[in-house]
Amino acid sequence: MEYLLGDLRRTHYSKDINPEITGEEIQLMGWVHEIRDLGGIIFVIIRDRDGLIQITAPSKKVDAQILDDLRALRKESVVAIKGTVQEAGKAPNGVEIIPAEITLLNLANQPLPMDPTEKVKAEIDTRLNSRFLDLRKANVSSIFKIKANMFKTIRNYFDEEGIIEINTPKLVASATEGGTELFPITYFEKEAFLGQSPQLYKQMMMGAGFDKVFEIGQIFRAEEHDTLRHLNEAVSIDMEASFMDDVDVMNILDNMITRILQSTKENCAEELEKIGFELDIPEGPFPEVKYDDAVDIINSKGVDMEWGEDLSREAEKVLGDTQEGFYFLTDWPSAIKPFYVMPYEDRPEISHAFDLMYKNLEISSGATRVHQYDVLVKQMIERDLNPDGFGAYLKAFEYGMPPHAGWGVGADRLAMVLTGVENIRETVLFPRDRHRLTP
Ligand code: ATP
Ligand code: MG
Repeated sequence: MEYLLGDLRRTHYSKDINPEITGEEIQLMGWVHEIRDLGGIIFVIIRDRDGLIQITAPSKKVDAQILDDLRALRKESVVAIKGTVQEAGKAPNGVEIIPAEITLLNLANQPLPMDPTEKVKAEIDTRLNSRFLDLRKANVSSIFKIKANMFKTIRNYFDEEGIIEINTPKLVASATEGGTELFPITYFEKEAFLGQSPQLYKQMMMGAGFDKVFEIGQIFRAEEHDTLRHLNEAVSIDMEASFMDDVDVMNILDNMITRILQSTKENCAEELEKIGFELDIPEGPFPEVKYDDAVDIINSKGVDMEWGEDLSREAEKVLGDTQEGFYFLTDWPSAIKPFYVMPYEDRPEISHAFDLMYKNLEISSGATRVHQYDVLVKQMIERDLNPDGFGAYLKAFEYGMPPHAGWGVGADRLAMVLTGVENIRETVLFPRDRHRLTP
């Protein structure tokens, strides 16, 4: 047995090995999923990124050395196996490999900190502590394949719409919306924080004349509560467009989400099956509920809510129960929305702001933005923010800022919808919350 890769190269992933290539010599790379030694015959199941494949070694057919090599393997060790494809009705993919050469590339220690074969259910904390092993499970890795397809679909869609990808700084001097939920950083000689949203930068890009931009990037929030839908580090999909209003960007959002749902169904059928989730694709545009009406609905369901308040968790739940899936919640009270949100001209106590909800889960917030310098400063002061702290941002509004609108979608929350998981931690490789900074 060797430990080095040398000239060994994979010829096939497990998923590409089927009865059609019976008789071919192939080279596999993967992890030892299972070993069954029946004396006269040894079965080893090898797992790679895409599935399982069976190695069958009857003592009469293969060299004694191969049998010894197979017996020396331990679960989760990394191996390269050269062999011949043979039909086998009951094995994965209807084939088995008769081994000709086994190369051990790395032996795994025993016992394993957790079982990566889906047979034993482990608590989320145990799983996250050994996340690299947890991710070897097909149902777990499927979530991330679905998420990767989601990002690919988003980038393709934005590209078709002429929306340009940008990257903005995550080390920032001022809060997006005030001081709460911010992580301070101590390196700089002045106050600095981790960015909680690219909001101010994507707006400055409207002043830069880029017209339509998007960013997929990390956001950092010192959340007050520990919930199944909040992390301290999340990925946000942000979009901003000039010469558009809230209705225009709601349409873009609706189209993007519908595209993602369709492409998940089309491209990730296997992954959805592995996680046992049936994804519904709604027909037609997402319905809209105005905040005024939402307050009435929530009260009628026995949850007290005054006009002007943000929705409590209970309110989100009872309202969500009245909806099929995705819906827009629109015309929010101006006072509970950030300073950069545009109030209605004829009824300034409400604003051109919307949330996209999926049942009781907030997926996105967006709005027509204020593009007039004076209104922006006035709205900052009304929210007890000091405009001096926003000098670099405000400057962009003095020299030709077009009317614009945009939104931010929580990518990890959207992945929850696509995979049907209840805990946001399931949709993030290495989640960060109050209790977890490693791995
Ligand atoms: P919530 O009310 O659910 O805490 P929010 O209104 O504070 O969310 P926004 O500032 O509107 O969040 O951010 C835009 C989107 O980013 C949200 O709709 C959500 O999908 C996502 N998001 C916000 N905070 C988090 C977080 N802590 N963890 C994961 N996703 C988040
Ligand atoms: Mg929001």
